[in-house]
Amino acid sequence: MVYRLIRVREPITRLARVALALEFASTVRHDGHGGLADDLATPEGLAAWAGVPADESLRRRAVELRWAVRSLFAHATRAHERTDTPHLMDVERALEIVNGAAARVPRAARLEWGEQPTLRYVDSADEGDRLLAGLATAAIEFLAGAARADLRACPAPRCIRYFVKAHPRQEWCKPSCGNRARVSRHYHRGR
Ligand SMILES: [Zn+2]
Repeated sequence: MVYRLIRVREPITRLARVALALEFASTVRHDGHGGLADDLATPEGLAAWAGVPADESLRRRAVELRWAVRSLFAHATRAHERTDTPHLMDVERALEIVNGAAARVPRAARLEWGEQPTLRYVDSADEGDRLLAGLATAAIEFLAGAARADLRACPAPRCIRYFVKAHPRQEWCKPSCGNRARVSRHYHRGR
């Protein structure tokens, strides 16, 4: 294989992968009015979120990948029907998209020997493919790893976030969701 355009990438840590996968899934959320707010709604939005130049074609691919990842999250957590459910796809299709994005950037380990031997990863992809491959790989490694067992779909009314439990009794993605759920329960009981 010929690496025409060589880029250097650092291996990322397990924690960073979990954070990246969750952050990517969280680029869409409830808008407070029964709809969805999407950080990736425009190429500019994607560019701002990812820190790389983006056009409409990359944006479409990123959004498709994001819904594929969220479909796998929904599958892993057996999430109930939520505002984003109409965007979800079946597991086979989601796997195809996630695996396809990861496979578009074959990378090679490269040994550099300065003061001491150092491992670097190199590839010959463009920035867009590399972005999607990095996100897909983070999702794959997260879903195939031990942290998946603590992945939860926040059960608060209207919330569509996923989170990894930081402690055994954590029920909500954030305290405000817990408060909203308590108020809602109280309201329904009161009627
Ligand atoms: Zn929540």
